[in-house]
Amino acid sequence: MIRSTSETLFRRAQELIPGGVNSPVRAFRSVGSSPPFLARGEGSHIFDVDGNEYIDYVGSWGPLLLGHRHPEILAALERVLSIGTSFGAPTEQEVEMAEAITGAVPSIEMVRLVNSGTEATMSAIRVARGFTGRDLTVKFEGCYHGHVDSLLVKAGSGLATLGIADTQGVPQAFCDTTIALPYNSVDAVEQAFRAHAGRIAAVIVEPVVGNMGCVPPQAGYLEALREITARDGALLIFDEVMTGFRVAFGGAQQRYGIRPDLTTLGKVIGGGLPVGAYGGRRDIMSRVAPMGPIYQAGTLSGNPLAVAAGLAMLRHLKAHPEVYQRLESLGDEVCAGHPPGVSVNRVGSMFTFFFQDGPVTDWESAKRSDTARFGRFFRHMLDRGIYLAPSQFEAAFLSAAHTEEDIRKTAAAARDFAG
Ligand SMILES: *Cc1c(COP(=O)(O)O)cnc(C)c1O
Repeated sequence: MIRSTSETLFRRAQELIPGGVNSPVRAFRSVGSSPPFLARGEGSHIFDVDGNEYIDYVGSWGPLLLGHRHPEILAALERVLSIGTSFGAPTEQEVEMAEAITGAVPSIEMVRLVNSGTEATMSAIRVARGFTGRDLTVKFEGCYHGHVDSLLVKAGSGLATLGIADTQGVPQAFCDTTIALPYNSVDAVEQAFRAHAGRIAAVIVEPVVGNMGCVPPQAGYLEALREITARDGALLIFDEVMTGFRVAFGGAQQRYGIRPDLTTLGKVIGGGLPVGAYGGRRDIMSRVAPMGPIYQAGTLSGNPLAVAAGLAMLRHLKAHPEVYQRLESLGDEVCAGHPPGVSVNRVGSMFTFFFQDGPVTDWESAKRSDTARFGRFFRHMLDRGIYLAPSQFEAAFLSAAHTEEDIRKTAAAARDFAG
């Protein structure tokens, strides 16, 4: 496969943009390759600037649950273009968006829109601290909650890929407010709450982890988090930026039947445009400015274009619950075609082939994967027109636009891998 135009662009990009990319994992460093520059997408397929075509399992890292250029989302965007792209003043669609989110996710009684998942988690942590009057936060190793200062401790995603355990530029005092524990260990959480009783503002968790690769919660784990936090008066924050509207219409909390105090959303709720949201219990969200003393704001929050795309996405999903059944069965099929010698984790339309025997239940076990072999698999698939996330520690995403034909081609290419 020839990618000479991409290579030229990547050289130009590296002169002016750190690493040539506007978000680190896009640079393909951990898979020993350089990224195709994309020209366009259609449904489940993407096309690079050299005219190569790929079946897309990245889906813009999660948002594109309906694939590229879904007609209902495009139509919604076109309607906004005739009106104006930003006002910084309330609009009717923001109310409809709030109704759509609270209608789908019952634990969210009030909601605030922001522009990214990072903003959502950053704000939710602030609200949890403001509401409880406590400073400490519990997070889990390998969970990524955006590039929030105090949450870049033992974070997954790009940091796992780059081998950066911590980042520079975060004051030690911020890290000192974060307690990082192994995922799926109830004991560790019990111990932390014994050691810091009455001082923990919140536990923030990816209810299904996507950012160390896909790692599901073990039976009883989320229930235990709910019980322990409630007992101590700490808040339970479900970071559903990835899982919201993906693993079920009502997110992981619907799938597993848990009611968190606060929820963060992003990715799917923007329909491919930048939208995040945080929300939850009315008594907590009532403390957010201007109703209450906890400040949070955004010039472009609730932006008409972004909200129109998100609302079109949520309306489509509400009208088509069968999307979720389809994603389950596509997920089943694509995972059945896994390459030899891998451990497969899947929840709904999120899955990861870990290059090891498994089981993978936390960051310690995820780390045991053979990342060099994953790199060879990744390049093998890319050359056969299958575009996976360029890291062992990311989930692959299916969209409703994927076809049986896509799955057959993917499985055939995967089975072919002998490396
Ligand atoms: C992607 C992600 C974020 C960060 O969202 P951005 O829009 O990239 O800032 C936060 N939490 C989880 C679980 C995510 O997957």
